[in-house]
Amino acid sequence: MPVCWLNGSFVAEQDAQVSIFDRGLLFGDGVYEVAAVLNGTLLDADRHLVRLGRSLAAIGIPNTQPAAAWLGVMQQLATDNGVREGLVYLQVTRGVAERDFPFPAHVTPTMFAYARPKLLRADPNASGVRLLTVPDMRWNRCDIKSTSMLAQVLAKQAARAGGAFEAMMHEDGLVTEGGSSNLWIVNDGVVQTRPLSSDILAGITRDVVLELAHAAGVPVRERAFTVAQAKAADECFMSSATSFILPVTTIDHDAVRAGAPGAITQRLRAAYLERADRLTQ
Ligand code: PMP
Repeated sequence: MPVCWLNGSFVAEQDAQVSIFDRGLLFGDGVYEVAAVLNGTLLDADRHLVRLGRSLAAIGIPNTQPAAAWLGVMQQLATDNGVREGLVYLQVTRGVAERDFPFPAHVTPTMFAYARPKLLRADPNASGVRLLTVPDMRWNRCDIKSTSMLAQVLAKQAARAGGAFEAMMHEDGLVTEGGSSNLWIVNDGVVQTRPLSSDILAGITRDVVLELAHAAGVPVRERAFTVAQAKAADECFMSSATSFILPVTTIDHDAVRAGAPGAITQRLRAAYLERADRLTQ
């Protein structure tokens, strides 16, 4: 029986309960993180916890649990649930209070986490995925990893209904990011992604891809690109903690070049896996 962690205790998932007055439920007033587990070990959890601290600070929720304690909880969830390859999800909400929009005076954050198995190394999507373009309908602080995600729910539902794996969100044709991923193109050997700003999430995988590209001598340009440029690019790929790097071979109904994974995309995915193995073995 899967075990989760809720407010300091490990409990069976089916017994974990949160109040209907939790502000995460009422307002989406919370933040979250998702870290990969490979070889039974957390990958880059330290970086995810730094970002958690930033998200919490940005919306004024006290960070009551030190990173070392989170690491212990996350690793124990992976181990106790037998997750060798998969993910750990964690969420912090502002807590439980009478429904009123401003911050409650006295409130204790709600914290929980759980683990799930997922194929990462042998991800069947590594042969290439299709993206569907949708207008980005989100707010102005997409750098906060908030659980308020109705726009992404609708974007990713539109993608799925259209037979696509992920949404390519754009503002008047300028690509922001995927529904739950960062997006990249490659032209003439140069890798390009949108620069960090409040328009996108600072993906942990994005950071690692930048580091791997630098280490491999692959030039990188942090500049926004359009949907049209993505469709006409030599290569396109997406990155996220639980998909690593996946080739994008179709956008809407247009094949990206030959409709096959690009060479640099495959090289970066291999480098990502190599690093991930090294850090988790
Ligand atoms: N952008 C958005 C909107 C996301 O939800 C995610 C996944 N959390 C990402 C980018 C990728 O971030 P990471 O590499 O940290 O998973």
